Amino acid sequence: MKVLVTGGAGYVGSHSVRALLASGSEVVVLDNLSAGHTAAVSRDATLVRGDLSDASLLDDLFEKQRFDAVMHFAAFIEVGESVVDPLKFYDNNVGNSVRLLAAMQRHSVKRFVFSSTCAVYGVPERMPITEDMPRRPASPYARAKLAVEWALADSAPAWGLGFVALRYFNAAGAAADGSIGEDHDPETHLIPNVLKVALGQREHVRIFGTDYETRDGTCVRDYVHVEDLASAHVRALDVVEPGETRWYNAGTGQGATVREVVDVSRSVTGHAIPLIEEGRRAGDVPVLCADSTKIKKELDWSPKYDKLHDIVASAWQWHQTHPNGFDNRRE
Ligand code: UDP
Repeated sequence: MKVLVTGGAGYVGSHSVRALLASGSEVVVLDNLSAGHTAAVSRDATLVRGDLSDASLLDDLFEKQRFDAVMHFAAFIEVGESVVDPLKFYDNNVGNSVRLLAAMQRHSVKRFVFSSTCAVYGVPERMPITEDMPRRPASPYARAKLAVEWALADSAPAWGLGFVALRYFNAAGAAADGSIGEDHDPETHLIPNVLKVALGQREHVRIFGTDYETRDGTCVRDYVHVEDLASAHVRALDVVEPGETRWYNAGTGQGATVREVVDVSRSVTGHAIPLIEEGRRAGDVPVLCADSTKIKKELDWSPKYDKLHDIVASAWQWHQTHPNGFDNRRE
């Protein structure tokens, strides 16, 4: 299968590119490198630097490459920034997704896997979250992701598109072979920020909110290994048929508090990891945990990493060997 991967130089995208190649697919990555890293893209994939807003680039690519499917990761990811600059998110995350779909329609490409998010649920009524629970996205970031899900559902019948939207929980960890991992600038995610303290790059971890109604007052998240997410994408592509539409949560179903993440990181790194307690971060919800029964049953997918310790250890291996992230000459 020949697959176009947008945002394939990013975190989940680059791990999915490797999983696709390992499954025997041919991969072309389209990335504008605004946040992605050339060094993250496997040399066995073709890297095209370009933007989804460029309709003639898309037409050329689709015309020449004759893709069987598209995996769409390219998007801005920072929730806080989406509150400050919503139109930036609507333009890139929604507008460019629509332009991509329009190009797929023009070229009759009928298989699509979309990188969605558990943030579409907002503050859920109960835990764990199942796919049928109401979508009440609480930020422009989350609303833009949901808008793309709607655009997919509304437009798919027009050319018989089949799609899978994967709503993932908290992606974490790094490739088992140590080759690629997480490198955001600025880094806002918990696990890399904790590990930067263990590396001596930061003095302490800031804990955002200690008065939530959770077992220790800090937020609970479902951390899922990035290679498990990558395998979920490959499974999604294996099963998706033109005209068929599917939505899945992807998580482990096990929640960890912020304090538990720090404790596990202390045990993995042997570092004391000092912390300071701060107020709540705007937009955070107390608990997010996936009920992944549907994807387990229908895609025969289950996460290989089911222990937070192993997820943090894999991230630690990456951060220790790449303390300054990627070297962006292509490795
Ligand atoms: N968090 C924190 N300190 C940090 C980064 C994150 O206390 O330096 C908390 C954050 O408030 C949330 C959890 O860790 O409760 C996970 O945050 P992250 O940004 O990793 O993922 P999110 O759930 O927001 O997608």
